[in-house]
Amino acid sequence: MGTQWKLLLGLAIIAFIPSAVFAEKWDISQNNTITVSVIKNEHFDYFKENFIWQGLEAYDTTKDGKYYGWNYALQSLDHRVPQFSLTQGPADIEITLLNSSLPYSGLAKTYSENNTINYATITVFEIDELDKHELLMVMRHELGHVLGLGHSHDPHDLMNHKIPYYTPYISDQNLDDIRKIYVP
Ligand SMILES: [Zn+2]
Repeated sequence: MGTQWKLLLGLAIIAFIPSAVFAEKWDISQNNTITVSVIKNEHFDYFKENFIWQGLEAYDTTKDGKYYGWNYALQSLDHRVPQFSLTQGPADIEITLLNSSLPYSGLAKTYSENNTINYATITVFEIDELDKHELLMVMRHELGHVLGLGHSHDPHDLMNHKIPYYTPYISDQNLDDIRKIYVP
């Protein structure tokens, strides 16, 4: 079913999250660096890891002012908000690349206590089916969830459950939502 559904939807990439994550956030009072690592399984390679990291770090915006990378987007807020840092081995966010057939391309899971996120995982399914652009679409969307964002009803928003293929970038609206979560 997964493959057929994806074809019917054309370029839409489906992302899935099991539960609402509104109101959950990282505790950044001591340290606002959130470490990210990619698990070294059989689908891991350094090219993909480097590519994911370049996507997170991209210091650039689209012509209409949307951000390619979360770190640069987060730095544009004049407040203390999380920053991602790539590491090796155990990390706050661990990314697993798989090549399994499911009707969605990415999954974010947060593990929290009293609405404070302690650990999160991101799984990218069908890694061999995604091109570079699609891989970064999925990563941007799932990292949005891991920061605490839920789904948007706006079909052009990065956080729509069907990530928009032509506008999968971080908008001022996304950053406003981040501000609401992290700025008291
Ligand atoms: Zn989602």
